Amino acid sequence: MNLLGPVSDSIEERAECAELNTALRQLGPHLDKFLEFEHGDAYERAAQWQAALGGELPQQGIGLRALIQLIGTQLVPNGSALTKPGCTSWITTGATTAGIVASLSASVASPQRFGLTAFNFLEDLSLNWMANLFGLPEHMQGVYTSGGSVANLIALGAARQEAFEAIGVDPAQDGLSQPCVLFASEASHHTINRAAAVLGMGRSAVQTIAIDSSGRMDVTALEHSIIESVAANQLPIAIVANAGTTSAGVIDPISSMAELAQRYGIWLHIDGAYGLPGVLDSRVTHLYEGLRAADSVIVDPHKWLGAPVGIGAAYVRNAELLQRAFTQEPADYFERSFNPGTAQSSLDRLGTPYSEFGVELSAPARGVTVWALIKEIGQAGLRERVERHNTMARDLAEQVTAHPQLELLLPPTLSICCFRFNDERCGELNEANRLIHRRLVMSGENIPSTTRIGGVLALRPCFLGARTGLEQVSNLVAEVLEVGNSLIKEHDNV
Ligand SMILES: *Cc1c(COP(=O)(O)O)cnc(C)c1O
Repeated sequence: MNLLGPVSDSIEERAECAELNTALRQLGPHLDKFLEFEHGDAYERAAQWQAALGGELPQQGIGLRALIQLIGTQLVPNGSALTKPGCTSWITTGATTAGIVASLSASVASPQRFGLTAFNFLEDLSLNWMANLFGLPEHMQGVYTSGGSVANLIALGAARQEAFEAIGVDPAQDGLSQPCVLFASEASHHTINRAAAVLGMGRSAVQTIAIDSSGRMDVTALEHSIIESVAANQLPIAIVANAGTTSAGVIDPISSMAELAQRYGIWLHIDGAYGLPGVLDSRVTHLYEGLRAADSVIVDPHKWLGAPVGIGAAYVRNAELLQRAFTQEPADYFERSFNPGTAQSSLDRLGTPYSEFGVELSAPARGVTVWALIKEIGQAGLRERVERHNTMARDLAEQVTAHPQLELLLPPTLSICCFRFNDERCGELNEANRLIHRRLVMSGENIPSTTRIGGVLALRPCFLGARTGLEQVSNLVAEVLEVGNSLIKEHDNV
């Protein structure tokens, strides 16, 4: 008898651990079909796919072949509308093929970002390439994150560390010894407030600074606020500048903010989650002046660069500071795992210790994806995409200005254009534009979001997806006019 007991089938692994080529060939046609966008909206078929995919906890599996069949026929065609060329409502968008293939490769060959492997090499290299691409100051330490939310958290964690160390406190070790303050504009992303909450400073530590009529932070108001806060004994942690607000694509007056940051000795953080790649467009590059004075900068490759979602990046002036803020401390299970002498194997070192620079230990190798996106089309290709999208926002602004029934609510800076249908015959304008937006969503061809500009409801397309091309502008204008004019008719008939 076998010492391990009777050998039964159940000792063997049931999950398929190879046969990727077969699996991809089976799934591939369904994925390509999805990208033809002829499947309509998932919600219309909710009962069908819930029945097909749901059910009780399976006791016996269905096997890989049947599983892929289910994924291809019931899951994929009922995915998200965000990937569609005419869907301009979100800033995250559909991934391009290179990024999808790269992240798939990482899932197969690099389940972690650590080790002296080619994947870890690309983690460093791609962070440097991006720094180079966007003209960030030299020697900043980059770290990939799950997105802009965590990138903001990490950058502000470093800012918090520096401010408290300057008064003799280690906040990572001992917590916060006094109230602090962060300065961010009304238009800043709410993940700044959440970062303040998570970092123990509290949401109320965020001083909201007014914006001017162009949506940019009012620098005079900023200076007043700094003086008041310091007089009230609040410890200044950071000034947050937007390089592209989420709502309107506005770039704060970075260089004036940098001057204030320097004058008062405050950390300058730049939230470029969406808009940092805008620096590639020479028509707006000057608006980024002051970027090189930043202490921290974030960008989301899963926005304008077209990476699959789950990839942000934070850059911080100084790696030691980051490490003091976020070290995960030595761990027993790593003791003696590494060869302290010369490395002889990919397991002999972690490579750059990214887990010391953020809040994740296990994490996907994201660098390969960013490397692939840049390697495929180069700086030139990325610049063309950014320029095309900025041009689209400007074209739209021109068409809107030229049409008597349309009103431009804010001239575009980057690839967002805020406008509305304006004809008093269709009734109260906020309500009319809300209705127009509902009908656009339901028809599903052109799907901008809405926002508010000075209290007025605006239609807000953000041109950003790699699949989104010039023709989308006229399509959108035509559909808004058609829907707006049909509202007028309906209004006349009641
Ligand atoms: C999208 C965005 C964020 C948040 O990023 P996630 O990747 O969604 O977590 C933060 N700031 C700005 C300006 C953004 O546009």
